[in-house]
Amino acid sequence: MPQAKVHIIGAGLAGLAAALRLADGSRRVALYEAAPQAGGRCRSYFDSALDMPIDNGNHLLLSGNRAALSFLREIGAEDQLKGPGSAEFSFVDLASNERWVLRPNDGPIPWWILQPRRRVPGTRPRDYLSILGLLRASKGISLKAAMPCCGPVYQRLWRPFFLAALNTAPEEGAASLAAAILRETLAKGGKACRPLIAANGLSEAFVTPALRRLKTKGVEVAFERRLSTLEFEDRRVAALGFGSERIEVAAGDCVILAVPATVSASLLPGLTTPLAYRAIVNGHFKIAPPPHCPPILGVIRGTIEWLFAFPDRLSVTISAADRLIDLPREELAARIWSDVARAIQIAQPLPAWQIIKEKRATFAATVEDEALRPQTRTEFANLLLAGDWTATGLPATIEGAVRSGFVAADVVLRGA
Ligand SMILES: Cc1cc2nc3c(=O)[nH]c(=O)nc-3n(C[C@H](O)[C@H](O)[C@H](O)COP(=O)(O)OP(=O)(O)OC[C@H]3O[C@@H](n4cnc5c(N)ncnc54)[C@H](O)[C@@H]3O)c2cc1C
Repeated sequence: MPQAKVHIIGAGLAGLAAALRLADGSRRVALYEAAPQAGGRCRSYFDSALDMPIDNGNHLLLSGNRAALSFLREIGAEDQLKGPGSAEFSFVDLASNERWVLRPNDGPIPWWILQPRRRVPGTRPRDYLSILGLLRASKGISLKAAMPCCGPVYQRLWRPFFLAALNTAPEEGAASLAAAILRETLAKGGKACRPLIAANGLSEAFVTPALRRLKTKGVEVAFERRLSTLEFEDRRVAALGFGSERIEVAAGDCVILAVPATVSASLLPGLTTPLAYRAIVNGHFKIAPPPHCPPILGVIRGTIEWLFAFPDRLSVTISAADRLIDLPREELAARIWSDVARAIQIAQPLPAWQIIKEKRATFAATVEDEALRPQTRTEFANLLLAGDWTATGLPATIEGAVRSGFVAADVVLRGA
């Protein structure tokens, strides 16, 4: 009797995480990816305009992202994430030119809000209590209904924090998703809130070592294999169609569908998935950052929101950027560079640049779309779902994607 096999479709972080957890020798594992490379929305590529490798989008993690960090530990790449030894976030307000560094203390009792030099300028300790409403919010309400969305603490801390985490205007974001992020990071103290970035690129951290580990564990990884059909029989998947090729799914075998929501919906009619998406715009500028430039800078009241300083470039992220998506790239580059130059107080003309617009970067983390996210199990006994858009309880993030892959794998290991 041959060993049971798990077919995983999609080699983004959800599919890679599922494959990694299942590659324990108890089953055969095959991973099929439509693109010529793995990583999905979280990967690096060589950019010919800049003549250097860059990431498809700047990705920020926090030290409280425990599934993402466990994934990195398992593939031996934990050291690829770099960040300060304690939680600190530099900010500039472009309208007032004020600059400050937010420094939450390590432990869960937030005494940092009592110290003017650690908290947001122009705020009092009691202003921070407004967040309690979010932590107590019931399911199905928006962030705006759960807490006041005004005042300096909101504009200079909660709004940028939740905008980055939700990739959705926080006011329309689901309170449950914002609260989940808060509980797993800042509410646990600065130790769970250190900012981390993949200093040598996303692929060096998350993708290349994962593929290496999967290979040593005997997982078959096939690229340029786009699943085009699922065949069903007796409420189970009986075969996978890759164009003209058909692969039988034997009794006892399982399938984990770890492809984007729209692809899953086309393969599995009747599946409900989030319907709305939000864009992310990234700008990359080929210039060595000046010595005074912090590694990560939050920008308030500008077009840009987060500025990342890499040794050979400055990179900018703008979340929920749908308002910018149709602007000509040249106009965007000039507008973004003007913010960058003001934010870090330099006078250089626009250097070589690249603008990357991801129109459907993540699903919209609204109450309506949150309610449409499906569970891991489907109505078909041997078919499971994974991906940042499934019901992880988190917004669309690396942490959510990895967790969804681990959960699907655990269902298989328990006997789907
Ligand atoms: C610009 C940008 C910035 C981001 N910033 C952050 C951040 O700062 N922090 C953070 O935590 N998260 C961030 N994210 C979100 C994060 O990248 C995603 O949540 C995560 O990568 C999703 O992984 P996934 O495996 O669920 O999906 P995907 O990465 O979409 O993977 C799905 C895979 O399935 C493959 N596929 C599709 N169709 C088929 C088919 N028919 N057959 C076989 N394979 C198929 C795709 O090619 C892809 O490789 C960002 C995303 C973007 C786009």
